[in-house]
Amino acid sequence: MVYGLSTIDFFPSDSLKYLTMKLIIHGGFFSESQTNQEIKKAKQEALAEIAKLGYKHLQSHTAAETAVYAVSLLEDSELFNAGTGSQIQSDGKIRLSASLMDGKSLRFSGVINVEDIKNPICVAEKLLNFDDRVLSGKGAKDFATEHGFGYYNPETPQRRKEYDKKLSDSIRLGTVGCVALDVLGNLAAATSTGGKGFEIPGRVSDSATTAGNYANTFAGISCTGVGEDIVSGAVASTIVTRVTDGMPLALATEKTFNELKPIDGFAGIVGISATGEIYHADTHPYMVWALCDGEVEVFS
Ligand code: ASP
Repeated sequence: MVYGLSTIDFFPSDSLKYLTMKLIIHGGFFSESQTNQEIKKAKQEALAEIAKLGYKHLQSHTAAETAVYAVSLLEDSELFNAGTGSQIQSDGKIRLSASLMDGKSLRFSGVINVEDIKNPICVAEKLLNFDDRVLSGKGAKDFATEHGFGYYNPETPQRRKEYDKKLSDSIRLGTVGCVALDVLGNLAAATSTGGKGFEIPGRVSDSATTAGNYANTFAGISCTGVGEDIVSGAVASTIVTRVTDGMPLALATEKTFNELKPIDGFAGIVGISATGEIYHADTHPYMVWALCDGEVEVFS
């Protein structure tokens, strides 16, 4: 259950429901997508299926519950760099980071560099009701264990093969995220990552910060890309602030992306505003994402 509303058990008329609800998800950037059409197609199919399931969930759940649900499905897919199939860090270990921002209660919660769990986004969701809402490393793992999240090794043979080949100079991004707008007009954003791959142990990703994942009553944004660039540009929170101050989502995003140019920032976002505007932007053309507002559409 998420702080505030739990399950929505009432709806206005069907027509209003379909006018309001929107869901947008992403599977980050993929180096393979540029060359391997088979992997690209598999990722697009997975996104289409998860967008469909997420939208169905949104019909009877809050935006926050739905964002968590969609991201947990993305974490469970080996194709993406989050949860199962996450990138391995330079010391051979996988550390996961994820966060949830509930635009209704204005609460942010997250885990940073947690090991040996299956769905970090579900631990972030659990933390939303606590006073201490962002935990890292061992503290996050202990909290997860205490709350019934069992041991799980998220490593896959494919990621081990990549690690063993020491492909540390290639781009291996592929964070996942979701922004949802529910029938009551509430927004939420959830983002989950295995990090950049080959990073120094202890490096903190943007995904469990308000630069990488943010929502309020005006807009919600989930980011992917190079965490250091996203944090330097305070991307998600800046876009949301601009929308709050009256700018349309597309303009707010483009202005924020222009500000990444001097640092040659590498970033991508998906977002929704409370007015129903839905938007995607990326600095490099091989991000995969999908949206559903009744019909599923997949893009890359
Ligand atoms: N933003 C993530 C990080 O820097 C990586 C990604 O988006 O794929 O850890």
